[in-house]
Amino acid sequence: MTSLVKVRAALQAVGSDNSSLFISLIDDAKLGPYKSREALRCKFELAEAEQLSYPVRGRKQAPVSLSKVSTRELQQICLRDLPAMREYYGDRLIYFSQSGDPDELSETSPEDAGMQTITTLSGTNADRSNTIVTFPSETLNDMCSKGIDVPANVLRAAITTCTILPSDILLPLFHSNEGTTVTTLLSGSVAWIFWPPTERNMRILQTAYENYAKNFDETKMDVASSLEGGIIFLQTEGDGLRIPPFCLTMSLALETSVLASNSHVTVENFVSMLHRLPLLKAWYQTEQDGERLQSRFNASILTYLDLMLNGSPEHEDRDALKLPVTTRSALPGTLLGSLLSIWDSIKEDLAAMLGPADHVAMENIWETFLVAAKGRKCWLCNDKDVKDIRNKQKLMKAHFVEKHWAEIQVVKRVDSMVVGEEGQVHEEPTGQIEETIETDEGEDAMDVDE
Ligand SMILES: [Zn+2]
Repeated sequence: MTSLVKVRAALQAVGSDNSSLFISLIDDAKLGPYKSREALRCKFELAEAEQLSYPVRGRKQAPVSLSKVSTRELQQICLRDLPAMREYYGDRLIYFSQSGDPDELSETSPEDAGMQTITTLSGTNADRSNTIVTFPSETLNDMCSKGIDVPANVLRAAITTCTILPSDILLPLFHSNEGTTVTTLLSGSVAWIFWPPTERNMRILQTAYENYAKNFDETKMDVASSLEGGIIFLQTEGDGLRIPPFCLTMSLALETSVLASNSHVTVENFVSMLHRLPLLKAWYQTEQDGERLQSRFNASILTYLDLMLNGSPEHEDRDALKLPVTTRSALPGTLLGSLLSIWDSIKEDLAAMLGPADHVAMENIWETFLVAAKGRKCWLCNDKDVKDIRNKQKLMKAHFVEKHWAEIQVVKRVDSMVVGEEGQVHEEPTGQIEETIETDEGEDAMDVDE
């Protein structure tokens, strides 16, 4: 259902504060219909290569095997997978998030409230729930993996998660992750708003995150009416949605809805993501366990950069992630070329996120690459007439630190360490953070992306 009139009517039928918010954005002419994507892409001069600035929806986007799951089966999957996944992952990837008045919520534990959400699925429980349940589902993952084309150069693929949204639950403004996410609606009806990741939109969102992080005042996130190029549409049962990296989004469940989502991050996604570091840094500050998330992120940056530049000769799978190397003059147009060419423009942002130990690790990663690279010229220096470095073994690191790296700033920084519950710090050795790196869709999908 994609025309503005129909979307508006469906929102009106819900008749809640949340639906009024969406309706007001339509009435203020802040949003276009799904079919206006192409026109908006031209209007905001989003490059042809960014044609995925907007999501694509439709049955073709959904894994085929997900089309035949009944609501009753879904409920059974939830009741079976949720406890099993909890045993496997602990609380790490299972979320029960509640909205509404905290005083009303205190009587029921989050788990019980989450179970109540699941029981509303079959219609046997008429009570309204306000608890969103999210968990990794092995059953849905098995079903999805049969119908999804995973690109060849995937750095990381996440296990399929199941999300159950109670009726009239709003998922507030947020950015989609650095990869491509496919979300299929298995049951229910969801209104989605998407904005493309234009520079202006990213700046507004980053500022909103920064302001929100100061004292967790939710009104600081009310910036939807300032964003440009938004579209709104309804996702109906069986529809898949392919969401490109860093799209801004808000959604509202018009009835109890179940979504199966998975995402993957390619090498290209990783390189593009390096332009979004200030936004990510701001976002980590809004998260309760932001420090842990950022430390994991820092660790993954070091791991993937090392693999992309230097490979890992002793692990065949990991070594396959090494970007093909030719000669310094043949770099333009290659992935390695684009990584090298953006480095000097993003290094300050990256340095500002990393702790002192990570700085040293980063210097070593680049030293290894630059010393091994053919010729006597530095591959990071753009200038054609750049001087030869005669003794690369001895001098390259100093050159990198001087020309291509940033000073450690005097701010609180997060190394790629894990902060324990009682505040002890456990260091995780660089390069071994993520136990498995999936390059093959047939592999065990327990490599988890948070
Ligand atoms: Zn250089």
